[in-house]
Amino acid sequence: MDQAFSEEIEAVRDMVNRFMQSEVVPVMAEYEKRGEFPRDLIRKAGEAGLYGAVFPESVGGSNMGYLAAVVIQEEMARNDVRFSSCNNQQGSTCPSSIYFGGTPQQIEKYVPNLIAGKTIGMMSLTESGGGSDAEGNMKTFARRDGDVYRISGQKMWASMANETDVGILFAKTDRDAGAKGVTAFIVEPKKYPGWSTQPIEMMGLSNALRTNVLFLDDFVVPVENRLGEEGDGFKIIMRTLQAGRVTVAGKALGIARACFEDAVRYANERTVRGEPIGRFQMIQSDIAEMATAIEASRALVYKAAQYMDDSQPSNRLAAIAKYHASQTAKLCADKAMQIFGGYGLAREYRVSWLRSYAELFFTGEGSANVQKIMIAEDALGYKLADRHHGKTGLRDIRKNDVANELQNKAEG
Ligand SMILES: Cc1cc2nc3c(=O)[nH]c(=O)nc-3n(C[C@H](O)[C@H](O)[C@H](O)COP(=O)(O)OP(=O)(O)OC[C@H]3O[C@@H](n4cnc5c(N)ncnc54)[C@H](O)[C@@H]3O)c2cc1C
Repeated sequence: MDQAFSEEIEAVRDMVNRFMQSEVVPVMAEYEKRGEFPRDLIRKAGEAGLYGAVFPESVGGSNMGYLAAVVIQEEMARNDVRFSSCNNQQGSTCPSSIYFGGTPQQIEKYVPNLIAGKTIGMMSLTESGGGSDAEGNMKTFARRDGDVYRISGQKMWASMANETDVGILFAKTDRDAGAKGVTAFIVEPKKYPGWSTQPIEMMGLSNALRTNVLFLDDFVVPVENRLGEEGDGFKIIMRTLQAGRVTVAGKALGIARACFEDAVRYANERTVRGEPIGRFQMIQSDIAEMATAIEASRALVYKAAQYMDDSQPSNRLAAIAKYHASQTAKLCADKAMQIFGGYGLAREYRVSWLRSYAELFFTGEGSANVQKIMIAEDALGYKLADRHHGKTGLRDIRKNDVANELQNKAEG
């Protein structure tokens, strides 16, 4: 698979590694110690183009596509998964929702700054009743009041909500309309009252990039910040999560590779009875299983990304790629911890916290069981995963450059 990559993709991979090694890896531990959000590093990553790969040049992207985006996520996570945990908010779920469902004005106003790392993004769907049935458990309600909506409720696991400038928030506008009662809003918490957050204490996750409980108390959103029409929220989130699944799969792949590389290094250095532990066959068995799973995951993740670049039906492939890559990340994290022995539990070694991130990506952006349901229902012919392909009426980032719409707007 690697050999088939264009020079352009390999140049991106090199660039990301150089960026992470020079700008992030040397300082991230200090941000973690201080519990400081790395706003300046996110800005630098945005300037380096790390969040804009799938977006057209007309909105400040590089138009390289999902394969490039996946490689960027993979290498960022491989170098420092903690820093990469805001990648979807900056370069995928948040700006993609705006691109898929927004007006040219909304896109022009918000997307360029998000992917440049100038504003901090967020995407809040989940509530405490459960994320797998996010719509069924959604209690947060947006009440129309003249030119604004007033949103009240409580969101769970709202990552970066304590720092965000511009986010996407999903709320019910009709409690009795099921999925058609969900509406998406572009939120600007620093401009309007009624928004407060409580960071959640997490095991083994970043102390600098946090996930939160989000409290909304008549939080104001101007009507012009509604994304699409009332009731369009669910189709926007479904489309966004599909794209997000592939980029999360890239991140899981990066975790797997980080575990593998650390395990190989350690197995060659650590000696027991005078021999590097890598000489023991049971350790070799672990290394072989990791290497095999990683190669299989890479093939799947890159294939799903390539299908998305070609605007081919890719929902089923994205689910398969995400499921496999998150399994691989967990497998590699487990094996790496075993190979490290007791040191695998020491914070000094990153395998101790890579395991928590592997668990996170196993669950986040649609849990492993939810991916399996989608894959199986497709195989059994109950519900085809790609049944909505090309029928949502949403913009396709890879096919529909918004430049013409912006041009038409400028001409009046
Ligand atoms: C650190 C972190 C950051 C997050 N960031 C965000 C964010 O920024 N924005 C956001 O909106 N959400 C975010 N999430 C939420 C995440 O997307 C949800 O955790 C995920 O969707 C699963 O929901 P849940 O945890 O409520 O589990 P539940 O939905 O309660 O599921 C519990 C278990 O039941 C299983 N299950 C569910 N349905 C079925 C079924 N039909 N058959 C078999 N098994 C089933 C699931 O696989 C899971 O194992 C984040 C979560 C974490 C932990």
